[in-house]
Amino acid sequence: MAKTAELHRHHDTSHTPESILRVSKKLDIKPFKNMGLEEIRKMVQAPKGVNFNQWYEYLKKVRLAYVSPQAVAELTRDVILDAAQENIDLLELRVSLLSTVDAVLVHQKGRNFWEVAKEAMERIINVIEETRNVMPTDLLMSISCANKNLPQVDDYAKLILDYAPHVMGIDLTKEQENPPSKYKAAIERMRGTIKFLTIHCMETEKPERGWDALTLNPDRLGHGIRAIEDSKLIEALRDRKIPLEICPLSNITTGIATPQNHPFKKLDEAGLILTINADGLNDGTTLEDNFNFIKRTFGYSSEEMNKFRKNAWKYAFRNRS
Ligand SMILES: [Zn+2]
Repeated sequence: MAKTAELHRHHDTSHTPESILRVSKKLDIKPFKNMGLEEIRKMVQAPKGVNFNQWYEYLKKVRLAYVSPQAVAELTRDVILDAAQENIDLLELRVSLLSTVDAVLVHQKGRNFWEVAKEAMERIINVIEETRNVMPTDLLMSISCANKNLPQVDDYAKLILDYAPHVMGIDLTKEQENPPSKYKAAIERMRGTIKFLTIHCMETEKPERGWDALTLNPDRLGHGIRAIEDSKLIEALRDRKIPLEICPLSNITTGIATPQNHPFKKLDEAGLILTINADGLNDGTTLEDNFNFIKRTFGYSSEEMNKFRKNAWKYAFRNRS
């Protein structure tokens, strides 16, 4: 079997209830410390049938455990070790530093935002270095396109550049509020040093977001499933060989798609380069669950499934540099 690369996994959506419990006990994190495992599971895992906004509320509950940069690092170490347990050979891990720092500052009032950001960044980099022999992790820095983060983008880009040797790529997230092109200047400044770019788009928004994303010359697109609504865009993605990071079970969990209407097979038949990813584990699933879901739902053979595994390995950023 080909080697397995996970190209689309966020740290904050990948904390398992087991990890939250362990770290909460170790670092005395309230309220989780006094809760049982199943109670935590109920609190942080969205049940089936929620919509995207409801799902996001569960993610915010996970971030309650981010009481300090140390807690962020401990939890992130578990995300890496959990991925290694899944027999993943290479993890590209996305870190949303701004929302992480926002969560920490609720508990560490009065501290300077960028000081906390630096400390969290350095601790995460250390964790990646310490686990390097267990499984290699490449760091992607996520930039949220939310309105509330707009004033911070320039300073954030500067911070990312300060740590450039440790950063494999940039990721734009939260497509709902602003189009990727709004971040063109910041992205171009960073890409002189940090080569790779992936953009969350067409998960919830229409194909216009895809066209807009293409103006930034991304190396891959996160999700991209609504590209199926625009045959010209499909053609452009195929011609430019831009792979899609499909996260099927995440799409089901967030209510974006159902097993019956997920466009995975149509995108494959249209000749696009597809990879299969988990997005996060806080719905209780693993990367293999995503592979099994695609195989079972669309009737692919094991050999056909191997194509998607090979795509992820080939289009992992470190293998393209
Ligand atoms: Zn994502």
